[in-house]
Order: sequence, then C-alpha cells, then structure tokens
Amino acid sequence: MKKTFSIGGVHPNDSKISAGCRIEMLPVPQTVYISMAQHLGAPATPVVSVGDRVKTGQVIGEPAGFISAFVHSSVTGTVKSIGPRPDLAGNKVTHVEIAVEEDEWAEGIDTSETVVREIPRDNAFILDRIKSNGVVGLGGATFPTHVKLSPPPGKKAEILIINGAECEPYLTSDYRIMIEKPEQIVIGAGIMKQVLGGPRTVIGIEDNKPEAIASMQAAVEKLSVLSPSYSGIEVMVLKKKYPQGGEKQLIDAVARRQVKSMGLPIDVGAVVQNVATSMAVYDAVMKNRPLITNTLTVTGDCLPAERQKNLLFRIGVPFSFIIEQTGGMPENAVKVISGGPMMGKAISNLDATTVKGSSSVLYLTAAQTVRRPESNCIRCAKCVEACPMGLEPYLLNKLARNGMMEELEQNAIQDCIECGCCLYSCPANIPLLDVIRVAKGDVMRAIRARSAKK
Ligand code: SF4
Ligand code: SF4
Repeated sequence: MKKTFSIGGVHPNDSKISAGCRIEMLPVPQTVYISMAQHLGAPATPVVSVGDRVKTGQVIGEPAGFISAFVHSSVTGTVKSIGPRPDLAGNKVTHVEIAVEEDEWAEGIDTSETVVREIPRDNAFILDRIKSNGVVGLGGATFPTHVKLSPPPGKKAEILIINGAECEPYLTSDYRIMIEKPEQIVIGAGIMKQVLGGPRTVIGIEDNKPEAIASMQAAVEKLSVLSPSYSGIEVMVLKKKYPQGGEKQLIDAVARRQVKSMGLPIDVGAVVQNVATSMAVYDAVMKNRPLITNTLTVTGDCLPAERQKNLLFRIGVPFSFIIEQTGGMPENAVKVISGGPMMGKAISNLDATTVKGSSSVLYLTAAQTVRRPESNCIRCAKCVEACPMGLEPYLLNKLARNGMMEELEQNAIQDCIECGCCLYSCPANIPLLDVIRVAKGDVMRAIRARSAKK
C-alpha cells in the first residue's frame, strides 16, 4: 500500500496545468537587483562597490553569520547601486543593482552540460563547494544546505529524504526537473548521501506524477550500474495528499518517524532536501557552479495554455519582467502569488525581484480570491481533522483573537507550518490561517526574546 503521512491533510485539486511545458530559458533583462536576504538567517554582507564590474557567478555577498549564505552575481555587468529596495512583501532589503552586459563567467566554473558522475571522495571539499556556491534549500525554507548536511555532535543521519512531492497545487517546476534533469538530481542525492555517512536514501514522489517517477527510477537504475555511490537509492511512490512536501509530513510518510514539537528532523535521524536543492548540490560540487538560477512556473486558470510556462530564470530578475516576457498580466487576474495557492505569498510589489527560492508566478482571478463572509464557529472540528500538525485551529483562533499569548504557546501554535489546511476546511469561512500566522509570529518573537535572556 502506498504511504502518506498519518495526521490530517486535505485533497485540493492539483491543477498542474503547466505540467507538460518543457523548461525554457527566460531572457536576461537590462538590469537585475540581487537581494542579500535570499536565505534563512542573517542577510549576506555586500562585498562589491558601486562602479565595480562583476562577472557571472562572482561572489557579491558574503555570509554574515553561521546561518547565512554566499550570494553571487547572476549576470556580468557593472554595479549601479547598493541599497534598500522593497521585496515582494514590501519589506526593505539590501539589493545590489547590476546593469547587464554580455555573459562572462567567473574563473573556475564549468558551464558545459556534460554530466559528471564520479563523486569526489573528500567530504570537506564537498561541503566547502556547497557553502561557497551559496546553496540553500529550494523547497521553501532556504536554509543553508551545508549547515543541514553537518549534523551537530551526537546526532546522526539515518535517512536522507529527497523531496519530490511538490504537493502545492499549480506548481510544476520540480516535476519538470525530475523529467528533464533526473541524473543531476540523483547525483546530488549520491553526494549528500556520502557526506552524511551513507544513510538510507529515499526520493519521495506523489503518485500523481507517473512520468517523473519513471524518469527518476530510470536515472537511479542507470547510475547504480555505473557506480556504487548510487546503489541503494530508492524511489518511493507516495499517496497524494497535501501538505506531503512539509518536512515533518514527509518524514512521517517515508520513515514513520515523528518529529516532536519544536524539534528538528535530525532529532529523529532524518535530513530532508528538495529535488531542486539536490540539483543545486550537483551543480555546486561537480561543476563549481553557484546557485544563480532556478526554475519557476508561470501559471493560473486564467492564463491561456500557450502562455503556461516553466522557466529557468536568473536570480535577481524582477517579477514584472517575467510577466512582461510571458505576454503580460491576464485580463481577469486580480492577484499574483509567488509560491502555491496554499502557502504562497501575494506579490504586493511586482517590481520586487526573484530570489533563490522563487517558485512561481501564479495568477488568481476575482472568483478565486473572493473572501466569503465569515460566520460563527459551529464546532464541527473539520479544522482539527485537517491539521497535519495535530493542532486545534479553532482554539488557536479564539486564543489569538483574545491575545492569550501564554495559552497559545501551551497549545503549540509555534508548531503551525502555515499550510492552510484549516482555512481550506472551515465551513464558516473563518480566516484561521491569517489569524494564526500573525499570532504565531508574536509567540515566536516572545520565545526568541526569552531564550536570548538565558
Ligand atoms: S495552518 Fe497551522 S493550524 Fe492550520 S492546519 Fe496548517 S498547521 Fe494546522
Ligand atoms: S472548521 Fe471552522 S467551524 Fe469547524 S470547528 Fe474549525 S473553526 Fe469552527
């Protein structure tokens, strides 16, 4: 029987309209704006000055702490300005503005498409390549990958899970790379498996993606014959359910291990990396290529079929440029989302630029965004049944509206993964996610302030 996670979850229509669209290269605009805050942790510190000429793949930002990451130029050109600029939510973040010229790659980067399969034996070299090439988790969290691949003393990785679930409706970029670049993903998995000391390695893919499953299985079989580095890597077909791509849900589905409240995957011997991260690890280690591109989906019910896209984009390209290059905003679109409809964020500023973790430009219509009138809670418990973290969303909503911070913490609001299953299930149209997300932010700030005092 196919596995899935054991608590909660919902089944939204997957709407993978762009699944058949091959990855195309997005042209490069005249100017890019590269954010220094593209990862979890401290923003990078710019190490270039106005007037400098930079090459494609050159470091332009250095990590400003243990949890931080290098940032590289995605283009060749001249630095025009360094300063604050609004990100997609309107928050001011330091960006490096570069006027683009013809591509000239920085020294030592292999730009060829030749697939390299022989994994270097030196793990310190591998980790250094992953760190120096700015690889971060591309499944949403953008946590620096070299840190995740270095478990703290006393902790050991017993299972490495490569996340190919892509459970958010509409998104198809992971699906396309599993079909178009399967070998690179499996080699990346082999590299991470070696660094972690050879744990069981599983690539988890939902059963609504048969073509991706076949493609990844074929790559694993081919590489296993060529080198023992890849033998034993499994492709596991998972029963489709949202949010299977959540780290804790995937660990439960694949390994039947439960991460405790406020715990980390490594506490139960698990490390989870997304398929796009695995490909970035391949690029970094085997090609010395920094993370300066990623793939995103341009989609929506209101977008004609010929304008649905999966695009390879240079990081730092404005969303407005992507919209313009793909035929403009559809007439009946009223909202643009970066990420999926369940967990994505509205782009309030279309001049904001793409970052390493950008995964989509999703257009929603008025009908899709209409807020139905909220009514009183009827205590149906549908939100409780749907919550994959075992929380009681109706209660969190009530406590949050009454500002009861202590009680919110006691009821583990900090474990909320902001998946939106509660909101999706509520017949009273209570904006559970919005209320819980704000209250969770307040509780997390209080927890951090308390531990800083200790
Ligand atoms: S958004 Fe939070 S509270 Fe709501 S279902 Fe998801 S994890 Fe549970
Ligand atoms: S789903 Fe909505 S109506 Fe039902 S218990 Fe939860 S909050 Fe109340």
